[in-house]
Amino acid sequence: MSRTRRVKIISTIGPASWGQAAFEALINAGADVFRINMSHTSHALLREAVADIRSVEEKLGTSIGILVDLQGPKLRVGRFEAPYELTGGAAFRLDNTPEPGNQDRVFLPHPEIIEHAQVGHRLLIDDGRVTLRVTAVAKDHLDTEVVYGGRISSNKGVSLPDTELPAASMTEKDRADIGAAIQLDIDWIALSFVQRAEDMIALRQLVGPSFGLVAKLEKPQMLPHLDAIISASDAVMVARGDLGVELPMEQVPSIQKMIVHKARALGRPVIVATQMLESMISSPVPTRAEATDVSVAVFEGVDAIMLSAETASGKYPVEAVNTMHRIASTVEQDSGYPAMIRISQAIPERTIRDAVAAGARHISEVVGSAAVAVYTVSGNMALRIARERPVKPIIALTSDRRVARRMRMVWGTSGTLYNANENVAMAALAAANEHGYTNKADSIVLISGPVSTDKNALRVLTVKD
Ligand code: PGA
Ligand code: MN
Repeated sequence: MSRTRRVKIISTIGPASWGQAAFEALINAGADVFRINMSHTSHALLREAVADIRSVEEKLGTSIGILVDLQGPKLRVGRFEAPYELTGGAAFRLDNTPEPGNQDRVFLPHPEIIEHAQVGHRLLIDDGRVTLRVTAVAKDHLDTEVVYGGRISSNKGVSLPDTELPAASMTEKDRADIGAAIQLDIDWIALSFVQRAEDMIALRQLVGPSFGLVAKLEKPQMLPHLDAIISASDAVMVARGDLGVELPMEQVPSIQKMIVHKARALGRPVIVATQMLESMISSPVPTRAEATDVSVAVFEGVDAIMLSAETASGKYPVEAVNTMHRIASTVEQDSGYPAMIRISQAIPERTIRDAVAAGARHISEVVGSAAVAVYTVSGNMALRIARERPVKPIIALTSDRRVARRMRMVWGTSGTLYNANENVAMAALAAANEHGYTNKADSIVLISGPVSTDKNALRVLTVKD
């Protein structure tokens, strides 16, 4: 399947898009990676989805990425006798008594919050629909003042934008979900509410080396550690849903730009997620503002853009993917696009690897090559070339199926399976041809690395007819 779109599309699957026929339709509409959200998926359904995606992948003769997204520590208040209306200025207590709550108090089943919250800290209930501010801290309760009143009811989520909680970003449920996921043929595992690089290091220790790890950036506490978190991850996600609750919503656009810039500089794939085409949950066409939001991420040069409820539970999953594909493809044809993505152009590190990657981009652009091909064992060299954001597509030749699948989330890159007995130049030309990148006048640039006698070999191959 030939595709020239550089940015990749991640589609969350769910009740609206389940089963082989649905997966095939989403792939044909433009999906590159499927996301399985463990907040809503049992282990049995996870196994079923992975098997079905792999069957469709086989049938279509392509490589599809699968990302398993862990729920992470979602904090919640306890139960209420009935829904209550809290009024601004009123006093409200959160305590450790597991009795149903009322308009004066509720049980908070997370002692670590009572232990670590300080006077002045905010508690945002139900995505910020109710805001409380701590006025006094005791051993067994927090006294708060209602800043923004509203309806409060059982088990609503609590966000603590001001409080650093010592717990790792992994819950018992996450550990069980990880246990199930690593038995399966999946490519990426995403950890929610990452605060420190150590969270990613702990996940790595748990899952071993075979999976790509995605840090979901959605807590303000990650900001001082951002470089270390990105470096400890294989990819990062700007998870704008929780980010916009935990931080003032108006900061999300700037933080998105900052994260994209840093991730591109460090050569880690970066995903922009949440509410990209939100109105398509119930409408067959997006708002013009949403189309522009998608375009902003494409112009920033992100690796992937993501659909959540639009494809998991919305009325128009295939239309949502197709709409995203059309917007992204059109933006990439814009004559201003190459200059826009250069705004965050990464500077080569002073390594032979980066010099070769930068050289490959330069040569391919000077001679007008059809593609940059690279033989890669781990996928690393392909990532360094993608970091250069060359004008023409990148072909990653690899003998490792898992590496080929991972390339499906990398900007401008496709993975091609390569048999070590083949001539690497012939394989690169065949792949470029198969993708429809070449014509008779064209050349391609090839970095053959480990399979050539010279490990940094860079060649320009002429396409013969
Ligand atoms: P979630 O993550 O859908 O798992 O909450 C995405 C986000 O918070 O934006
Ligand atoms: Mn989230």
